[in-house]
Amino acid sequence: MGKRLTKEKIREVAYSLGLDLIGFANIERFENAPVDMHPKSIFPEAKTVIVVGKRILRGGWRGIEEGTNWVSYTYFDYHGLLNSFFIQLPLYELACFIEDYGYEAVPYYSGVPEAKPPGKPLRENQPPPDVHLAIRIAAVCAGLGEIGWSKVFLTKKYGPRQRLHAIITDLEVEPDPLVKPGSICKRCMECVKGCPSNAIPHIKEGKKVSIKIENYTYEWADIDLGKCTLSYHGGDSRVSPFIHKSFPGWNIDARKQNFSEEAAYKFCWSLSTGKWRKTEEFPSGYIIEGHAYLQKWGVGGSYGICGSRGCMRSCFNFLEKAGIVEQRFKNEPFIRRKRWLLPYKVKRSKD
Ligand code: SF4
Repeated sequence: MGKRLTKEKIREVAYSLGLDLIGFANIERFENAPVDMHPKSIFPEAKTVIVVGKRILRGGWRGIEEGTNWVSYTYFDYHGLLNSFFIQLPLYELACFIEDYGYEAVPYYSGVPEAKPPGKPLRENQPPPDVHLAIRIAAVCAGLGEIGWSKVFLTKKYGPRQRLHAIITDLEVEPDPLVKPGSICKRCMECVKGCPSNAIPHIKEGKKVSIKIENYTYEWADIDLGKCTLSYHGGDSRVSPFIHKSFPGWNIDARKQNFSEEAAYKFCWSLSTGKWRKTEEFPSGYIIEGHAYLQKWGVGGSYGICGSRGCMRSCFNFLEKAGIVEQRFKNEPFIRRKRWLLPYKVKRSKD
């Protein structure tokens, strides 16, 4: 108490703790946010939202890109990174550091709010639980980057390769400058071409979402989240070799399905956790053993099968080639061999 806390000091501590990205947004930048996504709905005295990020390793996707290994991505780079010491611990320590100066620091977990619990406000004039920030929009407000056409958050340093969390605080600091729309995403449409489930509409279709922050308008594609979720979590036989193993002959082409996002989650998670057949390895019984294995080892939670084929892998492949991202590699481009996609239906031996 009594000591002066600057954002330069917070930035320095964040990097020393192992975080890769940090940006500061003043609360005024959230003026257009709906009440159930507003930082002030969580902490009414909030003055600043600090968004922090940890890079996703480029190598985290290598096994999926080559079609040879899935578990590393889920364990380290997807569910692992979102829910592990890589980002939670430094964020928590940073929040402790801020509170040592007498400012309250609300650590914010940015898990995807898939389904809000039904509920009524617990007090008058406030939203019902559960309030969630749109973390990618918060990161734009904090000057860390922009949202690409694919709806994935992009930074100059890593392109689409980061996961984000935040701290909401009553400390008041000068906000970081916003990144001008179009500085990173060049509307190349590589994400559209690479997405196996056709979840990202082409820019020519005109399906987009727009938001305004200060004088800038940010726009991105209106993603079909049912198709995206179905593919990402393995309900698409073109991206999951595990479906073919457990159910030879089963045809699920995500491009032809019209699930809602919630229904796609239910469907995919039923496939990985539904009780069906007991095996020695999974004595309680699962439906698709490969998905169950990833879920079991993916720090006990979610798992990735599609591995962001278009929205991340095609995207950073393009951004590296175009010289737009700062972190570069000796083996460029990332996509070095003919990409694989399975036939959506694999014949059974007796067909
Ligand atoms: S691949 Fe990346 S840079 Fe290209 S349009 Fe999609 S989001 Fe933008």
